[in-house]
Amino acid sequence: MEINGKTKLAGLIGNPVEHTLSPVIHNTIAGCMGENMVYIPLPVKKDIEAAVKGAYALGIQGLNITVPYKSAVIPYLSDVDSEAAVIGAVNTLVRTEDGFKGYNTDLPGLYRAILSEGIAVEGSRIIIVGAGGAARAAAFMGAFYKAERIVILNRTVQKAVNIAKEVTEKTGFSEIEALSIEEFDKIEGCGYLVLQATKAGLFPKTEETPISDESFFKKAAVVYDLIYTPEETMFMRLSKKQGVKAYNGLKMLLYQGVAAYEMWNHVRVPDKIVQKAYEALQSKI
Ligand code: NAP
Repeated sequence: MEINGKTKLAGLIGNPVEHTLSPVIHNTIAGCMGENMVYIPLPVKKDIEAAVKGAYALGIQGLNITVPYKSAVIPYLSDVDSEAAVIGAVNTLVRTEDGFKGYNTDLPGLYRAILSEGIAVEGSRIIIVGAGGAARAAAFMGAFYKAERIVILNRTVQKAVNIAKEVTEKTGFSEIEALSIEEFDKIEGCGYLVLQATKAGLFPKTEETPISDESFFKKAAVVYDLIYTPEETMFMRLSKKQGVKAYNGLKMLLYQGVAAYEMWNHVRVPDKIVQKAYEALQSKI
C-alpha cells in the first residue's frame, strides 16, 4: 500500500514486541479491505503513561497492549469497557474524543477460536492448565459463557486458587475449583474441554509439557493449546496419541486481532478476509 498524508497508524505496545505476529494480521486485513492504515510494533521499555498519552497526542488510531502492561495501562485510559474492567486487563485501546478506551479482545478471541472449531463453551466442563494472564482470561471466559464447571490446574497452586476466588467474587460463578497439576486425578468425570495456558512447550523449549502422564487425557474430550509456536506442542502430541483432537492457539491470536481491527475501523471483516489473514499467519509460523 501507498503511505501518504492520510495514513492512519495503529500498533502494539509491550516489551518485548520484536517477535509479534500482530502486524501480519492487521496489515493483511487493511491491505485486503483497502484501508489506509499501517500497524507497527511499538516497544515501550518503561513509562507506559507517557507512551499512552504520547500515542494519543500523535493521533494514533488504535493500540494493542501486551505483556507487561495489560493491567498497568488501565489508570491512563479515559474509559474501560465493563467486561475488561471485571477481568482487570486490557489488550486493545480504541481512540475516543477524550482519550483511549480499553477493551479486552483476548477473551472473545479465545471464545470465537474455540467456537470456530465447532466446540461449545456453554454447558461444557473445562480444565484450564496454568494460572497466568492467559489462564485468567480463559477462566473468565468460562464464567461469562456459562460453562458447567471449571477446574484450574497449576504448578503453583496458590495462583490457581486466587483466580478461582476472583472469578467467583466478580462474576458470581461458583462451579470453579483449583488444584495443583499433580492432583489432576482428583478431577471428577471426563469429557472436559482442556485449555492449555502455560508456557511449557513454547518455542524454543518445545520438548516441555505441563503434564506428561498420558492418563490425564482420558479426562479430555478435546484440547485447545493456547501456544501457536510451535504449531504442534508436545501437549498436543500426547493428546492426539490418546485419540483426543487438539488445536493450537493461532486462531485465538487471529480473532483477538480481528476484533481490535473491527473496533478501530468501524467495520466488519468478511470471513474470506479473516481466512486470508489466517493463511498469512500460518505462513509465518
Ligand atoms: P504467564 O502469565 O507468564 O503464566 C505462565 C504460566 O505457565 C503459569 O501458570 C506458570 O506456572 C506456567 N508454567 C511456566 N512454565 C511451566 C512449566 N515448565 N511447567 C508447568 N507450568 C509452567 O504467561 P501468559 O501470558 O499467561 O501466557 C501463557 C501461555 O499462553 C503462553 O504459552 C502464551 O504463548 C500463550 N498465549 C497465547 C495467546 C494467543 O493469542 N494464542 C495469547 C496469550 C497467551 P507457575 O504459576 O507455577 O509459574
